[in-house]
Amino acid sequence: MNLILLGPPGAGKGTQAQRLERAHGLVQLSTGDMLRAAVAAGSEVGKRAKAVMEAGQLVSDDIVVGIIADRIAQDDCKGGFILDGFPRTVAQAEALDTMLAERGMKLDKVIDMQVDDDILVERVSGRYTCAKCNAGYHDKFQQPKVAGVCDICGGTEFKRRADDNAETVRSRLGAFHAQTAPLLPYYGARGVLGTVDGMAPIDEVTRQIEAELGFAAA
Ligand code: AMP
Repeated sequence: MNLILLGPPGAGKGTQAQRLERAHGLVQLSTGDMLRAAVAAGSEVGKRAKAVMEAGQLVSDDIVVGIIADRIAQDDCKGGFILDGFPRTVAQAEALDTMLAERGMKLDKVIDMQVDDDILVERVSGRYTCAKCNAGYHDKFQQPKVAGVCDICGGTEFKRRADDNAETVRSRLGAFHAQTAPLLPYYGARGVLGTVDGMAPIDEVTRQIEAELGFAAA
């Protein structure tokens, strides 16, 4: 099964993608994670993306489409993948259609994770991840069971993203409404769009997504 998690920054795409990956063996493909890795490695792509990401704007379509095309071609994607943070523009969605058609793959579902803007800033500015396994946490809403220890891998180092601050989140939200929201009618017209309440508790959001995907009863 190949799917897209669509939603504004802080909607919980990464959290839910990690859960689907663990429960169903689907591979999480996060363009944000790939770009951050490129920035950390100081690669040519990373150098081009760094300032744009810090400003909360979108990296150019050709860069992200290139990254995803390379990634989807890898063997581990054959069993199904979850796109997290891609596509973010109609041009990226069209490029995705072309690359899937070329590989004889199809898009099974697009999940729209709906969250009101006013709670996203608080969600994003409090979040952090395990430095070892990338599991996501939040100062207020999702603390590790044992303080300072990752629930998943036992790691004790955590990191915060440079662009998870209130000011940058507002630009990222602006980019979402202007450039990414038009994907909703794009996929709606194809009958692959499902909607979940991204403001529900994390387990409930997982339940709604699984119901949309046919993994569990609604
Ligand atoms: P994310 O981790 O998905 O919140 O992405 C972090 C940042 O990476 C975004 O604010 C953009 O600057 C960049 N980015 C990630 N995915 C894309 C994409 N599909 N298109 C353009 N820019 C992206």
